[in-house]
Formats: sequence, structure tokens, C-alpha cells
Amino acid sequence: MDYIYCPVCRSKLQDRVLEGVVRKACGKCDFVHYRNPAPAAGIVCMMDNKVLLVKRKYPPKAGEWSLPAGFIEYHENPRDTAVRETFEETGFKVEIIDLLNVYGSCDDPRTRVVLIVFTARIIGGELTPGDDASDAGFFDVEAIDVKLAFENHREALHDYRKRIKYD
Ligand SMILES: [Zn+2]
Repeated sequence: MDYIYCPVCRSKLQDRVLEGVVRKACGKCDFVHYRNPAPAAGIVCMMDNKVLLVKRKYPPKAGEWSLPAGFIEYHENPRDTAVRETFEETGFKVEIIDLLNVYGSCDDPRTRVVLIVFTARIIGGELTPGDDASDAGFFDVEAIDVKLAFENHREALHDYRKRIKYD
């Protein structure tokens, strides 16, 4: 998504090079559209040596699988996002254990994303796929046999496998 008109004064925006980057800027007021990646948060959570994944209900990549994750609301702490999204998508209440890592991405057609992934453990609830997940379940973390929607989720699972082997 890119602006055409200034959201402050409604003038047409122009390309201007600022800090060495071409940005949409207003010629009438001082508005500059600084495009930033959208921050998202998710979890890697295991039960009986299997990892919790959700099946995407809506585009992009409907029918493919991902870690429980979602975009961070303006008022939200990333840890709370990860816990909330997991509950909405899977029915499980989780608590965060640790930060796994932070990932960039460019394969989500909606926007570039910065994904913060935590490790978490289940502390309640039961498997109830919901919200924007059509299904949820546990998969052998060493041999995931469903299609993962996003490269940064693959990276996170790779890092997680390294962690449980070498930590
Ligand atoms: Zn303006």
C-alpha cells in the first residue's frame, strides 16, 4: 500500500529522495510517508515433542500452515500479541518462555514484516481452531509434512531445532 495523496492536506504526493531513499513526500506541508515493515509476533510451542501449527483460513496463502502469529496492535506489547494470537487461533493459553529470534520477511504480499518469535509453553485451554485459522495441530518438528506459508516461519523452526539440539 502506498499513498497517492497527502493524508494531512490532500495534495498529491511526489517522489523525493530523503536520507538516500525515494519517499513519497508532500510539496505543500511537511508530511513524508516513511514506509516501515509491520511488526508481528508469534510462538514456537511444543507438546509431546510436537510443534503447534495453524492452517490459514484466509489469503494470503490460505490452506498453508504457519506458526501461531499475528500483527501487533498499536497498544500491545509483542509478548501479549503472541499470547493473544495463539489463544485466538488455537484455543490454547500459553506463557512465554524466551525470545527465539527476530526475522525479516518479504514474502507476505500485504507488507514487509518484522516477526518476533518467542518460545512458549501451554498452560491451559484446549485445541479449538478459530479466528483466522481453519485448523490447528501438532507436527513432528523434525519432519513437518505440511506446506509452511512463510519463509520466516521456516527460519524460526530451523533455529528452534538447532536450539533443542545444541542448547
Ligand atoms: Zn500535505
